[in-house]
Amino acid sequence: MLLYWGLIEDAFGPGSWPVACASVAAIMPLPEPRPFPLADADLCVKCGLCLPHCPTYGQSRNEADSPRGRIMLMQGLATGRIVPSSTVERHLDGCLGCRACERVCPAQVPYGALIDAGRAVLAEARPARLRRSRWTSVVLSQRPLRQLLAMLLRLYVASGPQALIRRFHLLGGGRLARLESLLPASSAIRRPSTAVPAANKAARGTVAIFTGCVGGIADPALADDLALLLADCGYRVRRPSAETCCGAIDQHAGDPARAERLAARNVAAFGAGDDPILPLATGCAATLAAYPRLAAGGDAFCRRLRDPLAFLMAHADALRFRATPLTVAIHEPCTQKNVIGEGRALRQLLARIPELTVVELDASGRCCGAAGTHFIDHAAEADALLQPKLDAIAALTPDLIVSANIGCALHLAGGLRRASGISPEVLHPVRLLARCRA
Ligand code: SF4
Ligand code: SF4
Repeated sequence: MLLYWGLIEDAFGPGSWPVACASVAAIMPLPEPRPFPLADADLCVKCGLCLPHCPTYGQSRNEADSPRGRIMLMQGLATGRIVPSSTVERHLDGCLGCRACERVCPAQVPYGALIDAGRAVLAEARPARLRRSRWTSVVLSQRPLRQLLAMLLRLYVASGPQALIRRFHLLGGGRLARLESLLPASSAIRRPSTAVPAANKAARGTVAIFTGCVGGIADPALADDLALLLADCGYRVRRPSAETCCGAIDQHAGDPARAERLAARNVAAFGAGDDPILPLATGCAATLAAYPRLAAGGDAFCRRLRDPLAFLMAHADALRFRATPLTVAIHEPCTQKNVIGEGRALRQLLARIPELTVVELDASGRCCGAAGTHFIDHAAEADALLQPKLDAIAALTPDLIVSANIGCALHLAGGLRRASGISPEVLHPVRLLARCRA
């Protein structure tokens, strides 16, 4: 109890514990011990071929910030040869989870699953590290709390203090100021007003949209835009109200038990049908793709997953676009490039918009630094990773930037707001496609 009291005080400030006490038992169980998949870690032959592809190794040139070094740290933790310490924690938490290393590994080391499992081992020894992810996850996984948060953000953005707070730096330079700087403009965060028509052809079928918790708050019109395009293709849309957070926050923080509970809720929410499930954010899609090892029924759920852009491309003959003489730069999220694939569909769809010029934002394909909550928790390192993207934007001067992951979009837009003189809009490709409908 004292531990929980300390966690609450730490998370919310002195005197806040009585308010949260009632829900503590439900949301703060200690981490359940999980065996670390040593056999998977032992697949690593320490060849080092992944090192040139690792953004964090590129930044620090420290072996402990490389995939190979982190795997060795996790092997040491799991076998008791290394004691959990703040130094080990720093090296494991510094990983972006971009999985660029996994894509190039000749031994097919499942690095993404390993780093999640390694953080879970850390959390068993140092449970206090989970306090922030659990509170975040609790708020984002409850629909009423999400709606309340979205309403408060809209109120804040629309009612005037934002400009004053930003102008006079009233929040200082800490985490809260960083979060505030990521808030979208009022036009982006407004409640969606688009009326989604019924499917305009004899319905071909029904698809389910997985909205995602952060996307639902930061870009509430996105799901309606996808529904518009799907209606053009002749599909009915459903959005299960019991959908919850995909579990990525908990999974990557080292809290697999909570991630599994959320996965089970989503499997139940989307039911036993066979209608395709289209996740709006690639970050969610990467976690949903891991449901076979997170929840009973996860296999069947996973077989229904489709990339929304690939799904639209498969029905692109039904889509009509008007001439749009703009230049759009593509930012491809790591989860798209290294986990899901399907990046070709985005380019094929954009090529169908007359007069649209498409450029690649950054040929290196390096992580932008958003990486879940990395751009909030490791702001300086994340901004350093973002800088080449901002330089590319300054050189290319696109009118728009598209990114299919909400975290990347927020990080890019926040970086652009902080940099002076360059301000193209950052939006999900689905929003651009909907905007260009004929
Ligand atoms: S993770 Fe793969 S590429 Fe990297 S050192 Fe190990 S075996 Fe080599
Ligand atoms: S996931 Fe990305 S940041 Fe982490 S070790 Fe692999 S390449 Fe480096």
